[in-house]
Amino acid sequence: MIPFNKPFLTGKETQYIEDAVASGKLSGNGIFTKKCHAFFESKFGFKKCLLTTSCTDALEMCAILANISTDDEVIIPSYTFVSSAVAFVRQGAKIIFADSYKNNPNIDPQQIEQLITPKTKAIVIVHYAGIACDMDAIMAISKKHNLIVIEDAAQAIDSYYKGKPLGSFGHLAAFSFHETKNIISGEGGMLCINDEKLLLRSEIIWEKGTNRAQFFRGEVNKYGWMDIGSSFLPSEVIAAFLWAQLENLDAIQTKRKAIWNMYYNTLDSSNLERIKLPVVPNYASQNGHLFYIVCKSIEHRSHLIAYLKGEGVHAVFHYLSLHDSPYYAEKHDGRALKNSDMFSNRLLRLPLFYNLQLTEAENIANLIINYEQNN
Ligand SMILES: *Cc1c(COP(=O)(O)O)cnc(C)c1O
Repeated sequence: MIPFNKPFLTGKETQYIEDAVASGKLSGNGIFTKKCHAFFESKFGFKKCLLTTSCTDALEMCAILANISTDDEVIIPSYTFVSSAVAFVRQGAKIIFADSYKNNPNIDPQQIEQLITPKTKAIVIVHYAGIACDMDAIMAISKKHNLIVIEDAAQAIDSYYKGKPLGSFGHLAAFSFHETKNIISGEGGMLCINDEKLLLRSEIIWEKGTNRAQFFRGEVNKYGWMDIGSSFLPSEVIAAFLWAQLENLDAIQTKRKAIWNMYYNTLDSSNLERIKLPVVPNYASQNGHLFYIVCKSIEHRSHLIAYLKGEGVHAVFHYLSLHDSPYYAEKHDGRALKNSDMFSNRLLRLPLFYNLQLTEAENIANLIINYEQNN
């Protein structure tokens, strides 16, 4: 069976973990953590990076930094992972779910403006499949209405909007290194702070509400309790693992993008009537995070999943609309979000991982073509 995902190891992970252990400093913000921060800040131009124990944690830091509280409204796409919303719900916010575009699961900026009220405080956007949202449009809305923009860039490492890295647009951005993402550390994430005004406070929240990071830099002569916070920083063991992955970022990305292109080009060349391919707008890039197709109906998708399974290929659907979830349906304002529901019912993801052979991707695409031509 070709699995949907298989975590990739570069081979250096355990050596770097041994180095971290031998160094005698195992808690967070040590040598490997600083190497990872410097790598991201210099390669992608993020103003400041802080590793976190997950992307979910980074989003929780965003909610704290944005001062989200009861009565605030936060606009979030419905077609996303739970964490995009749950971090803000924990701070007491009311979530105003927004719909996707018709031809792309990303949030449709044209809809955002109609959802803004005097209570709106922030917009969370998700670059689905690592394909950029329309950042010019979103940042213009943010400026006009004085709203904080948070990029859920969990899937968007090394992807770009008009050549500028995703994660560098919003006031804040969150990345994931969960084992299902391009670059992994088992569980892991990162907060990027692009708004100068949030820099100092972000470090304090990261370090349990203390100014310990400033103390270790010699900027203050003792440290103490300054604010709310939590233990958001990962240990050096996690950072050491992540560093082994980052050293191989370019090779990982090259291979993943080649698999994506193999799927796209093979399926595109046979013009299947019932299957839609991902739309990458002119302003966006693909980063080989995930490859999806959109089926004609939920039944069509179920049959295709069963057929692929019979042929030894594990293909999986993705999110269920959050506005319709058991937890939030009652709290949702009742608006129908047709496009989000459509992607919930019809989007199907194909296997994509570093060790998948290009010929295997081609075969999977050909299985789909074969199914479509005979059913
Ligand atoms: C994976 C993912 C997350 C959660 O990441 P964790 O590191 O597992 O917390 C959040 N949002 C999106 C869009 C994701 O794909």
